[in-house]
Amino acid sequence: MRLSRFYLPVLKETPSDAQIVSHQLMLRAGMVRQQGAGIYAWLPLGFRVLKKIEQIVREEQNRAGAVEMLMPTIQPANLWRESGRYEAYGKEMLRIKDRADRDMLFGPTNEEMITEIFRAGVRSYKDLPKMLYHIQWKFRDEIRPRFGVMRGREFLMKDTYSFDVDEATARQSYNKMFVAYLRTFARMGLKSIPMRADTGPIGGDLSHEFIVLAETGESAVFCDKGLIDMDCPKKDIDFDGDLQPIIDQFTSLYAATDEIHDAAEFEKTVAANDRLAARGIEVGHIFFFGDKYSAPMKALVAGPEGRDVPVQMGSYGVGVSRLVGALIEAYHDDDGCKWPMAVAPFHAGVINLKPGDNAADKACQEIYDGLAAAGVEVLYDETRARAGEKFARMDLIGLPYQVIVGPRGLEKGEVEFKRRADGLRETMAVGKVVETIANAVKAELRYS
Ligand code: ATP
Ligand code: MG
Repeated sequence: MRLSRFYLPVLKETPSDAQIVSHQLMLRAGMVRQQGAGIYAWLPLGFRVLKKIEQIVREEQNRAGAVEMLMPTIQPANLWRESGRYEAYGKEMLRIKDRADRDMLFGPTNEEMITEIFRAGVRSYKDLPKMLYHIQWKFRDEIRPRFGVMRGREFLMKDTYSFDVDEATARQSYNKMFVAYLRTFARMGLKSIPMRADTGPIGGDLSHEFIVLAETGESAVFCDKGLIDMDCPKKDIDFDGDLQPIIDQFTSLYAATDEIHDAAEFEKTVAANDRLAARGIEVGHIFFFGDKYSAPMKALVAGPEGRDVPVQMGSYGVGVSRLVGALIEAYHDDDGCKWPMAVAPFHAGVINLKPGDNAADKACQEIYDGLAAAGVEVLYDETRARAGEKFARMDLIGLPYQVIVGPRGLEKGEVEFKRRADGLRETMAVGKVVETIANAVKAELRYS
């Protein structure tokens, strides 16, 4: 992609209304533009990151056996009257009327709709288990939208719903999502910690929030430091095998969000040195809720004994758009973003210090073509901006690798290579820089 054709409206000043670094950098790097309280347009650079995150989420859902579909954003209120949530949901729900004066709403979540879809098509336990998901925009009229995309009103969520005949098999679906979530966040370069969360009136132990530690996080969390070093299950994990030992390992150490934190238990079960009281960002939430929707909405299946039973359900959310902010909180420095390869908007940037100079243009084109041929996504800055401005902009948008090309270096056949993560710089031959970056990108995208 040539920068002159792209749309990258970077800001020089830090917007004064942005309180946390991810929000500041998303605005400064031209990733999003606010359109209203908690409502953002995704500009081309931000959109590319959002799509990368979405694709990782999708791949790990598919691997775990969930099946993708797409439900609408607008829902009829009647569905929600069936579950009793239309009245209960309160002001967070955006209620709309259509031209025939029918009550509609912009979906804050999809339990009712998926239950309606399920009951229309499944009759017997023999068709179970099923896991269905979609990645769709939600609207919640939050009291305090803030921190940019972290707490938006319109936001992108992946939500999966599981259907099982009884609680024992529902636990297996839950375990699949538990493992899928560990892997999803790890692939993005995030260490997520599953923490016991509120189950509401259902009770039980099947509700976990996946938390990424960050000082700017909105959740207060408490956990055993041992969880930070626990290894994420590898890609060859068999989702149809017994996942319980993995879940047991992760849940053996104390970890809870403040809503259900038990200070006495924390102190009793975790040695003083291992206690971590910190703040975190909730990037995912998995939840088993049994027949909460299937009973009132009559989503019944014939059980093994022939009797109809309400299907046992769980729901599993990932904050796809919130993750963009969470990733910046984890990966940035004073100069800007530092994207991990898996979610970088482009893998590399090429800076031409003297557009119009024959040698520089030719070398840049050669590097650009060579990288593209190797599958590397490149943003080529061939604009007439000052060198200092180009350097600052490239650092701000945080592509993992940079190649800086100028006439002086080219006289010796050299260009400069820069790694954004640690600032490493090296001069290299034109031919070598392509190979170096292509290999590095390939290695960093190889996940385990
Ligand atoms: P929170 O406690 O942060 O308000 P929640 O518990 O209401 O979130 P869930 O219903 O569990 O959210 O939604 C699943 C995921 O969607 C959350 O884990 C979070 O990552 C994301 N999410 C929820 N609300 C928002 C929001 N207002 N803006 C961005 N992402 C959100
Ligand atoms: Mg939640």
